[in-house]
Amino acid sequence: MSEIESIHIDGEWRSSAGGGTRDVLDPADATTLAVVAEGGVEDTDAAVAAARAAFDEGEWPRTPVAERAALLRRVADLLQRDREEIGLTESRDAGKTLEEGRVDVDDVTAAFRYFADLAAGESGGRVVDAGDPDVHSVVVHEPVGVCAMITPWNYPLLQASWKIAPALAAGNTFVIKPSEITPLTTVHLVRLLAEAGLPSGVANLVTGAGDPVGARLAEHPDVDLVSFTGGLVSGTKVAQAAAPGVKKVALELGGKNPNVVFADACDTEEGFDTAVDQALNAAFIHSGQVCSAGARLIIEEPVRDRFVAELAARAQRIRLGRGTEEGVECGPLVSAQQLAKTEAYVASALEEGAVLRCGGRRPEPSDVRPADGYFYAPTILDGCHRGMKVIREETFGPLLTVETFRTEDEAVALANDTEYGLAGGVFSSDTARARRVAARLRHGTVWINDFHPYLPQAEWGGFGKSGVGRELGPHGLAEYRETKHVYENLRPKPVRWFSG
Ligand code: NAD
Repeated sequence: MSEIESIHIDGEWRSSAGGGTRDVLDPADATTLAVVAEGGVEDTDAAVAAARAAFDEGEWPRTPVAERAALLRRVADLLQRDREEIGLTESRDAGKTLEEGRVDVDDVTAAFRYFADLAAGESGGRVVDAGDPDVHSVVVHEPVGVCAMITPWNYPLLQASWKIAPALAAGNTFVIKPSEITPLTTVHLVRLLAEAGLPSGVANLVTGAGDPVGARLAEHPDVDLVSFTGGLVSGTKVAQAAAPGVKKVALELGGKNPNVVFADACDTEEGFDTAVDQALNAAFIHSGQVCSAGARLIIEEPVRDRFVAELAARAQRIRLGRGTEEGVECGPLVSAQQLAKTEAYVASALEEGAVLRCGGRRPEPSDVRPADGYFYAPTILDGCHRGMKVIREETFGPLLTVETFRTEDEAVALANDTEYGLAGGVFSSDTARARRVAARLRHGTVWINDFHPYLPQAEWGGFGKSGVGRELGPHGLAEYRETKHVYENLRPKPVRWFSG
């Protein structure tokens, strides 16, 4: 298979300076999907230099916002034109179903349109009443400068777009480093930016490993802002590397997300069916490789047994396989490493006393095709408690743990008993109770009687160790801007503070 020139610097597609390459694997059968350039420090420095020059001397930061917005809308149209191709690439690269790949393209299209409208709809600045008729005071926003973007493998196109769309709307230039495991749709997106007419040097891409490429971006003196989405360990390193340069840092990290189910949610058969279905979706979509996965079911004791029995029966019926096959509901885990990690978490949970309700193993080769993919059966671990590693740490696999509560206070305490704080759900037929509990949850997104939806208009991000800053919504645009106060004295005169 020939190499894709996946490094994009100053408008040109290149191989890496060192000549290295990396095989991108199809997780459904471990065969090579594509060979991409393995960038290093030299490529990273060249990409930052191009972004720096495009920011300092280029037209993009000074292009009227209406024109920048028009470009974002052209990108949205191109994404829709290539929807099938990109959806298929995402499905094969990240191991998700084809339908999920298509939905990702639609969500990303919506994000480009949202940021185009948001930026174009704003007025020029905020006039501040200085309390003095001789003063004209205005607060304006300007682009931050050169942005470094580092993204994970679970939603490659989506995470890239949540950064690229607002950064461009605000007039920045950037260098993006996608996950080395799933770089392909980011390469496609950067091609579309060029096709839409983005000037050379504004968008730069370096494929390669976290260290050196991501690490170099985080410390680089010519980078003004680092926006990182990924795990806690790498995110902490990025923040440390960025600190000496006092760069702006945005971190979207992991989660250990509770799904609180009150018994009254199951009072009717319809309510029971909905809560079970949603719990299944919360935990197992994309094989649980979702930062906001509802991996902790926290359920009121009287309904626990019936609920978990039904959940386990449905989890066992989830159809695993290659994401592009008709009827497949869950693809493989993304890598051998992710599979080994999942197996280790299950072993540790069982050692610590969890009770296996379903799964807990790789599927039989006769039950899944291709048999040599990184598949793992959806797994439910009952009887879990705070002391267990599987409750404290983000597993990022198809593992659902079950804890029980008796009172509302206990439910809230359990749901907040995590160092993370990304997302959580509450299921109850008592609206007042559901809202009361939602108000007490220390998580960046709370769903009531639902799980997983998000809106480009609403901020996304975490409390606690789930991150710093927000993506999407007005705050998601503000992350990519500096704020400047311009104070103009309309009738200058001496201050005479000093007598001389
Ligand atoms: P990861 O931390 O291993 O890698 C993320 C990115 O960081 C990759 O591009 C990687 O190459 C790079 N990287 C690794 N070490 C680095 C270093 N020292 N310096 C700079 N960059 C480095 O994460 P992952 O396994 O790719 O993704 C899964 C994680 O992402 C999970 O924890 C998940 O919760 C999180 N995530 C969070 C969100 C969110 O919105 N909060 C969304 C998606 C994923």
